[in-house]
Amino acid sequence: MPPPSDIETAMLKNLYQQQQVDVSVLRLDELDPLVSGNKRFKLERYLAAARDRGRRGLVTWGGPWSNHILATAAACHRAGLLAQGIIRGERPAVPSPMLRDAEVLGMELHYISRTEYRAQYLPPTIDPGAWILVPEGGYGPEGRDGAAGIAAATNWTSFTHVLTAVGTGTTLAGLIQASAGSAVRCIGINVLKNPGAAEAVRRLLPETLHAAVDIRAGFEAGGYARHTPALIAFMNDWYRQTGIPSDFVYTGKLFRAADTLIRQGAFPAGSRVLLVHSGGLQGNRSLPAGTLIF
Ligand SMILES: *Cc1c(COP(=O)(O)O)cnc(C)c1O
Repeated sequence: MPPPSDIETAMLKNLYQQQQVDVSVLRLDELDPLVSGNKRFKLERYLAAARDRGRRGLVTWGGPWSNHILATAAACHRAGLLAQGIIRGERPAVPSPMLRDAEVLGMELHYISRTEYRAQYLPPTIDPGAWILVPEGGYGPEGRDGAAGIAAATNWTSFTHVLTAVGTGTTLAGLIQASAGSAVRCIGINVLKNPGAAEAVRRLLPETLHAAVDIRAGFEAGGYARHTPALIAFMNDWYRQTGIPSDFVYTGKLFRAADTLIRQGAFPAGSRVLLVHSGGLQGNRSLPAGTLIF
């Protein structure tokens, strides 16, 4: 993990001057192209568990463009651990660049049906006692505690609100845990239509923090890994204005939600808002060339 001082907090000058809201972006995307953004934090405890318990490495689940699969492959490769990726769906005739990268990094890939995937099926060749099993997206107490480390990457309590994209909600749970006892309010932005997201986050938190779980819906742009022309136009426009690239699955939806909420007056004048850039830029490789200007 790089020292927190190496992680950039980018102030967006004048963008929301009219609303009198200061906005900064925590550039976790700049940490590493492979172990991107929040994944680096979420995987930390699982990697430590594999080392401490003398396991062969990590086994985890994901889709054919999963940032989590790629991050797990790269993190294990660097840590001298083995990695198994259990992929949703049939082996594609032409594997995605993400799947190719994961294989190049030494991850062994297994393809399972969607039905098996929903049951987090483990191929019989994998002895669960020899590995650390990492639930999809790193969801679990280990992932939450790792994600809580994101708060140390910047002057956390100087912000009034922190916004992050919500997939499994592990990252949001970690940020809420890290903000306990402070005035910082964490807000999650759903990137998929998942009415169960808040409950999933609460399951990772003690009851005293359940009231702090705040997830906003309506910014999904059609659903998980879907996009609309308006989302793509926003991402290009945001890049022109800030120089900050985003991905269409998570952070593009986060920045668009933040922009909408700020313009709607959701934050009182004087608010200092931090947007967590959780990485994921590799996923833009699934878009046709020329879709994005960055
Ligand atoms: C995986 C991912 C997320 C979702 O994180 P959760 O902890 O599952 O909610 C957000 N942003 C990016 C870029 C991701 O790759």
